[in-house]
Amino acid sequence: SQKKFSGAKVALLGAPGVGKTAFAVRYITKRYIGDYDSNKEMLYTYKPREELTLEIMDTASLVSSEETEKHYRWGDGFVLMYSITDRQSFLDASAMKDSLLRVKGQDVPIIVVANKADLASVRLVSEEEGSSLAEQLDCPKYEISVADGYQAVSECMQELLIQLKKDFVK
Ligand code: GDP
Repeated sequence: SQKKFSGAKVALLGAPGVGKTAFAVRYITKRYIGDYDSNKEMLYTYKPREELTLEIMDTASLVSSEETEKHYRWGDGFVLMYSITDRQSFLDASAMKDSLLRVKGQDVPIIVVANKADLASVRLVSEEEGSSLAEQLDCPKYEISVADGYQAVSECMQELLIQLKKDFVK
């Protein structure tokens, strides 16, 4: 008989201020508060459905440290975030991609999330650059605004769950 996919650990990776806390809170509560206690590491437990328990780590975002490597080892799946208004956050995401691939290998369940699409008028990272980052991870990229709504956040997590489930039955 087939093993049931009953749980997974998801780590949110990205530079400070890109919206990781907003993303986690939006996914779990459907709400957007707008003012978050940034840069504190938080571990949430969330059951998107009865038979599935997710542990979601809102990491306190450093590109390269022992802590970060610990998060890489801890996670089954990853959300790699940057803000389209913050060029450095894109460079940080690219650097995290490299170190994550070293730790987890090319088949790691992951999605790239380019956040703050509502601020496109002050965009500093092009859609193409984001797509190229996702190509290097062989994963989907979503350009979203956590501020604008729940739907896009939910779609991102659905995709990650599909990848996690595939990885689980492998
Ligand atoms: P973290 O450090 O990655 O956890 O980032 P936060 O979730 O704390 O968000 C940093 C700031 O960006 C906060 O002031 C949020 O309100 C804001 N923010 C998060 N998501 C969005 C978004 O989609 N659009 C806009 N305009 N602001 C956002």
